[in-house]
Amino acid sequence: MLKGNSLSKGVAIGKIYLLDSSKFCIIKQKLDAEKVDDEIMRFRQAIEKSKKQMQEIKKRASKVGDKYAVILDTYTLLLEDEVIVNDTIENIKNNKLNAEWALTETLDKFTKLFNNMNDDYLKAKKDDLDLVVHGIIRNLIGHSQEKLSEIDEPVILVAHALSPSDTIAMPKNLVLGMITEVGGKTSHVAIFASALGIPLIGGIKELTAQVNTGEHIIIDAIDGYVVTNPSEEQLKHYRKKQENYRSYEQKLLENIHQPAKTLDGTHVKLMANIESPDELKSLRKFGAEGVGLYRTEYLYLMAKTPPTENELYENFKKVAQEMEPLPVVIRTLDIGMDKQLQDMNEEPENNPALGLRGIRMSLSNPGLFTHQLKAILRASMYGDIRILYPMISAVEEFIEANELLEHAKDHLKKQQIPFKEDISVGAMIETPAAAICVDHLLEAADFVSVGTNDLIQYLLAVDRTNESVASLYQPFHPAVLKSLKGIFKAGRDSGKEVSICGEMGGDPLATIVLLGLGFQGELSMEAHSIPKVKKVIRKISLEEAKQMADHALSLSSTEEINNFILSEMQARFPSDFDRDTTFGEKLFPVENNSN
Ligand code: PEP
Ligand code: MG
Repeated sequence: MLKGNSLSKGVAIGKIYLLDSSKFCIIKQKLDAEKVDDEIMRFRQAIEKSKKQMQEIKKRASKVGDKYAVILDTYTLLLEDEVIVNDTIENIKNNKLNAEWALTETLDKFTKLFNNMNDDYLKAKKDDLDLVVHGIIRNLIGHSQEKLSEIDEPVILVAHALSPSDTIAMPKNLVLGMITEVGGKTSHVAIFASALGIPLIGGIKELTAQVNTGEHIIIDAIDGYVVTNPSEEQLKHYRKKQENYRSYEQKLLENIHQPAKTLDGTHVKLMANIESPDELKSLRKFGAEGVGLYRTEYLYLMAKTPPTENELYENFKKVAQEMEPLPVVIRTLDIGMDKQLQDMNEEPENNPALGLRGIRMSLSNPGLFTHQLKAILRASMYGDIRILYPMISAVEEFIEANELLEHAKDHLKKQQIPFKEDISVGAMIETPAAAICVDHLLEAADFVSVGTNDLIQYLLAVDRTNESVASLYQPFHPAVLKSLKGIFKAGRDSGKEVSICGEMGGDPLATIVLLGLGFQGELSMEAHSIPKVKKVIRKISLEEAKQMADHALSLSSTEEINNFILSEMQARFPSDFDRDTTFGEKLFPVENNSN
């Protein structure tokens, strides 16, 4: 059993699909002397397979033109390069090493050589070599060459990392669960998995080197364990746990038609976060009262070229119409950091989380931004649409974005295209600067929405996508609670609405504390969390919540706050926050924690 971080709850049992990725984790293995010849044979077969694959690609690519054919010829030549092949074989023979490791050493040697050359052309060849070598490694470890979209049976995806484009491409109904070697709680794959209710575990280091496509595996994303090659006894145990968890989730759905009201009658609107109109169908099933965050960047990440104004308009119109009369908050493009557009041709940034992301990117690409704004404005005729700007760190940015919005309105007027003139416009509060200056932002904006995922990352200086610092990413850190309290107070003073659309808003463990800190707006979350959060809201009074938040605020360490909140919640909701007894005891010891 391997221990990781549970990023989207549930239990999955199935066959592995090891995802093709260039970031393999290769382990050095010493071979017995009698196995060396077989290993060399295995290496030669992998090269032959690569050559055949290259010929196949060449056949398919022959129509593309000469330039492309030349590149493919380069690859073929590299595959036939005796120096590379012989160097690897010598290494396998002399040092009794596995072929994957020996080939990686050869690659390292040549990479250093290329790096030391003063010729840019030759330096660029390094990338060709890298690609060819990874092709051979894929064949050595039995990686499938198929693409994610070609999966045609239920699988558990195992990958080093999953990019937003991977998650978009995968056939969601066939993915039973996912395991990644990296990824924190608020990485995009975690949000995606939660939205679809797909169990996901992250942070299992070197797993891609230990498993192969077709092998059986269990994901226990309730307690954060992965079981490779499970025994009959383990399969039986986890089937039961899976069944228990499913019936727990089913039971929760019983409250979907009840209002999210506290015992003293305060109604908290529970909204859904979405990334695509495909998710709309399930929103009503969970009792969502609108869309509190539509992350539009996925429309851009999916396409080779940015979508046109018309394509965006059709998309937004569909969402508005399907949700009508419920509100839909459309967030403008939040590209940057872990969500990069392939065709932007931007220089790679040293520090992308602090770079050209969110509204900064939109303001420096006014054409792209205006297309989006015009599309939203046009769609506003079909429902209650609101606009939300991401990553605001100064009032000037908000004002500048609004100037472009006015410009977009003028365009539409000239074209005599109707739109809602008084459309509501809000700012996301996800930088410390925005949290501190939220009073000024509330003067300029119609509403604000707190993006706790980024706010926690920037307040605590902890990369939300980096599993090595995942333990430092603490929503109940005193600095986070104090900031939230200040933001909610500014909201009340201004009389304007403060919503929450980060993961903390959908965490039932945080619900009482948020209310106690003075939160009064809309909570937007992955739709399947709505019944859990509603269950908590319906059982508490604001007075009780305030007492709990005040006590949490009086504690100076995160650990104390975590323990306090967990024990309070377990006492009030034993079946929801005491997972082990509800879903099955830990029967099996953790043998090998690869972390
Ligand atoms: C957030 O930062 O909390 C948020 C909702 O935005 P995203 O997760 O898309 O960065
Ligand atoms: Mg954010």
